[in-house]
Amino acid sequence: MAKGITRIRGMHDITPQQTPQWQQLEQRLRTLMQAYGYDEIRMPIVEKTDLFCRSIGEVTDIVEKEMYTFPDRNGDLLTLRPEGTASCVRAGIEQGLLHNQVQRLWYQGPMFRHERPQKGRYRQFHQFGVECYGLAGADSDAELILMSARLWSELGIADAVQLELNSLGNHASRLAYRDQLVAYLSDYRHELDEDSLRRLEGNPLRILDSKNPQTQALLQNAPKLSETLDQASQDHMALLCDILNQQGLKYHLNERLVRGLDYYCLTVFEWVTDRLGAQGTVCAGGRYDGLVQQLGGRSTPAVGFAMGLERLLSLMEEMETLPKAQAPHLYLTLMGTEAQRQGLVLAERLRDALPKLRLLSHCGGGSVKSQFKKADKSGAEYALVLGDSELEQGVIGLKPLRDKSEQHRFSETQLLGELKMRFGW
Ligand code: ATP
Ligand code: MG
Repeated sequence: MAKGITRIRGMHDITPQQTPQWQQLEQRLRTLMQAYGYDEIRMPIVEKTDLFCRSIGEVTDIVEKEMYTFPDRNGDLLTLRPEGTASCVRAGIEQGLLHNQVQRLWYQGPMFRHERPQKGRYRQFHQFGVECYGLAGADSDAELILMSARLWSELGIADAVQLELNSLGNHASRLAYRDQLVAYLSDYRHELDEDSLRRLEGNPLRILDSKNPQTQALLQNAPKLSETLDQASQDHMALLCDILNQQGLKYHLNERLVRGLDYYCLTVFEWVTDRLGAQGTVCAGGRYDGLVQQLGGRSTPAVGFAMGLERLLSLMEEMETLPKAQAPHLYLTLMGTEAQRQGLVLAERLRDALPKLRLLSHCGGGSVKSQFKKADKSGAEYALVLGDSELEQGVIGLKPLRDKSEQHRFSETQLLGELKMRFGW
C-alpha cells in the first residue's frame, strides 16, 4: 500500500472530539470581549516579511530562528504570521483606525513559529489577543489585566495562574538603562555565552531573562531596571499597582521580566502557571507606545496581550474544568420504510417549533436494537420512536435513555408541549 502523507511536524488537527472545547472557549472569549466593549479584527495569515522584522526586532528568537518565510511566485518575501500585534498595527494604520481615536480590538487565529515541538510548544498554534490603541494611561493597562483575571475565574483556572509584572520604563528610561547594562556587562564579555554576546549588541535587555545560570549570577550585581525609571514611568507603575490592589488582585513584581519582543515599554506582564512544565506562560503582554510610529503611523499609545489557546486548554484539562461536549437532546429512531420517508420531515417540523432543540436523526435503517444502540451512544436524553404502529395511530414514542422509565406515546402537538416542559424551554 502506498505510504500515506502525514501532517507537518508541530502542526495539529483539531479533532471532532476536541472542537467542542475549542468552540466553547472561543464563545466565552467572544462574550468576554463584548462585556468590555472590544471589537474583533481579522487580519491575513501571511504578511510581508519586513513587517515582522521591523516590529518584533531583528535580534529576537522569533525573527532570528522561528519564522516561516518564503518567496511567493512573484519573488516577494512573505512570512506566515508568528504573532498578531504587528499585523494588527499594520491593519490599524492602513485602515485609518488608529489616528485620533480609541480602538479596543481583539483577534484570534493560528500563528506559526518554527520551534522545537514539545508539549505546549507547536509550530502552528492559536492565539487570542487583545490590543487597545489611543490610551496612554496605566488605567488601560489595568483594564487588560483585570479582563484576563476575569477570564481565569470564568474558566476555573484562577488558582493555577500567577501574575508577573514589571516596568521597562518609557523610551528615555529604557535607553538610559540599556546603556548602563551594556557598560556593566561589557566588563564580563568573556563570561557571556554566545546568545548573550549577540544580544549585547542588538537587544541587551533580553539578557536579563537568559536561562544560563552563569549569566544569571553575573546579573545579581547588574544595575537594576527599577532604579533607573524616571518619575513618569514610576507614576505609571504606581497607578497600575493601585488599581490591581483595589481589585484585590495579587501580583509578583519580577525585575527580570523583559519579554522577547523589541517593541515593549513601560508595563510588561505574564500570567504563568507551574502546572504545565516548562511551557508555563499562558498569557503575555504589555505596552508598546512606539510601535505604531515605528511602522509608519502617527504616534499612538498602545497596550495589548496574547494568550496561547492550546496552553489554556491544557491547563483547563489539568484543572479538570474542560467543558463537556453537548449531546443531542433527542435521537430520532425510524423503523421501516414509511417512517424513514416521513421522519426527516417530522424532524424539520420539530426544529421549526423548538429553536433550541438538538436533534440527531437516524439515517440508513437497521434493526430496533442497532438503532437504540446508536441512540444510547449519541448521549441523547431521549429517543423518539417512529414506526408503522406509531404512524397508524398518529403518535410518536418518547423513550428516556438515561433511566429505566417507560416509553410514552404522544401526538405531535402533545410531544412539543412535553419537550418544552422537560427541557424547560
Ligand atoms: P515562550 O517564552 O513560551 O516561547 P513567547 O514569549 O515566545 O513564549 P509570546 O510571543 O508572548 O510567547 O506569545 C504569547 C503566548 O502565546 C505565550 O504566552 C504562549 O501561551 C503562546 N505561545 C507562544 N509560542 C507558542 C508555541 N510555539 N506553541 C504554543 N503556544 C505558544
Ligand atoms: Mg517563544
